[in-house]
Amino acid sequence: MYQVVKIPAFSDNYIWAIHNNEGKCAIVDPGDGDVVMSFLQIQQFELTEILITHHHSDHIGGVKLLQSHFPNCKIYGPDTSRFNSFAQGVKQGDVINLEASDTCIEVIEVPGHTIDHIAYFDSANVFVGDTLFSAGCGRLFEGSAEQMLVSLKKISRLAPSTNIYCAHEYTASNIQFAKTVDPSNQDLIAYESIVKDLRKNDFATIPTTVEVQNKINPFLRCDSLPVKHAVEKQFSTKDLDEKNCFANLRRWKDSF
Ligand SMILES: [Zn+2]
Repeated sequence: MYQVVKIPAFSDNYIWAIHNNEGKCAIVDPGDGDVVMSFLQIQQFELTEILITHHHSDHIGGVKLLQSHFPNCKIYGPDTSRFNSFAQGVKQGDVINLEASDTCIEVIEVPGHTIDHIAYFDSANVFVGDTLFSAGCGRLFEGSAEQMLVSLKKISRLAPSTNIYCAHEYTASNIQFAKTVDPSNQDLIAYESIVKDLRKNDFATIPTTVEVQNKINPFLRCDSLPVKHAVEKQFSTKDLDEKNCFANLRRWKDSF
């Protein structure tokens, strides 16, 4: 048995800690080493693994500090030159035996936000970094819209009950955009009221689930008529296929 715990960092980041009952702990995307160190010290956990989804500093900024305190900790990251000097590269389909959870975790390649972005999946949970956010998705800094759409589909096709752990609390603002695109979506309207209640009390809206995101996230609904029609209206165009609908939707969000 293992648990997943959030460590809030910076203004809206979540760093995820995976730990078993024996005090072994893995950290996903330690952007801030100090907050992770104080978490580990208070809990008296031993850091056994670091899982990196992509190279942005708010995801890897704390790696060096953690490594200096836990020199035996294994570090995993995308299998590219950005990471090869300090992490063991992993790619699509690779399986990591995670000491912190006593389970196997599988690697999913999800390019788009960055070209070598990966996610980690273990049948109950998926850690997606900045690929999918609740009611939204990551910006396209390096990959194409087409790559991102394929990446998002890999996540949306996981079992509906899968918990999605993303790295930012962007849900409330993403809902404002989602409602503009998909205003008559009753699931989205119901979700907004849940999110309002959570945020009023400063509670996290993450994790979310694949089931919820498939119903409310416009970026996973580019094959639905309401989203397609809204994007066509916004860009005064017609007959958009799913790929072009997604590309335009992402562009719309960039300037929203
Ligand atoms: Zn990022």
